[in-house]
Amino acid sequence: MEKKIRVLIAKPGLDGHDRGALIISQALRDYGMEVIYTGLRQTPEQIVASAIQEDVDAIGLSCLSGAHNELFPEVIKGLKAQGADDIIVVGGGVIPWEDIPFLEEQGIKKIFTPGTLSIDTAKFIEQAVYQRDGIEVKSEMELVEKIDHIGIAVQSLDDSLPFYLDTLQLKLQGIEEVESENVKVAFIEAGNVKLELLEPTSKESSIQGFIDKRGPGIHHVALGVKDIEGRIAELKKKGIQMIHDAPKPGAGGASIAFMHPKSANGVLYELCEKESKERL
Ligand code: ZN
Repeated sequence: MEKKIRVLIAKPGLDGHDRGALIISQALRDYGMEVIYTGLRQTPEQIVASAIQEDVDAIGLSCLSGAHNELFPEVIKGLKAQGADDIIVVGGGVIPWEDIPFLEEQGIKKIFTPGTLSIDTAKFIEQAVYQRDGIEVKSEMELVEKIDHIGIAVQSLDDSLPFYLDTLQLKLQGIEEVESENVKVAFIEAGNVKLELLEPTSKESSIQGFIDKRGPGIHHVALGVKDIEGRIAELKKKGIQMIHDAPKPGAGGASIAFMHPKSANGVLYELCEKESKERL
């Protein structure tokens, strides 16, 4: 049975606006969590005391005053001093990107920015708590396992391969033709990531269209995933437009699906799930 997660939403410091804190409180409740809101202007000591008294699993700190670099670590220190550092602490509010690595180093599990969807915050807290409690975590946590390969459009494999194999001295893993896509594909090993050279085999190939429009060069980045159907569903739920709503066969015996670049900062991303028995 799934346990009900208890979260304390707290506003340390002096700022007087709690619209964001109230919104996230409601979103976590809608997600099925029990939420306690401390109200404005709490000291780190008060927050630690409330968290222990309410026996919460997690604390969400919200700070708009700019004092997050002092206040957030004080909460962590306070929890440690009380032997309550198994409580997961996340933060949000107006926090510059530059401060995020510092805060996460201090023990804040994750910093959410104003652009973060409430559903992502809720899921993160849920999975962090499950992980802490040794409850099996759904693979949603690992939307992306790794960068699998980088796709590069070339007009001719014969002309391009010497650069990779001779000049860069990389290893050719294999060449295959993917007839459905009108491409011939060469996989080259480059450390943990592969390069996928794509040569169009007909005028109808989308790779030929790409080269005609932009010239040869980087075409896509492939994200290695597990359970590609689940990942597609997850991304669509988050509002990402997919070029392929269902996986299709790609090179190397993989199942693949592309995200629309409009949804991905102008980059064409491929989701790529390798079968357990790789053909290459
Ligand atoms: Zn690819």
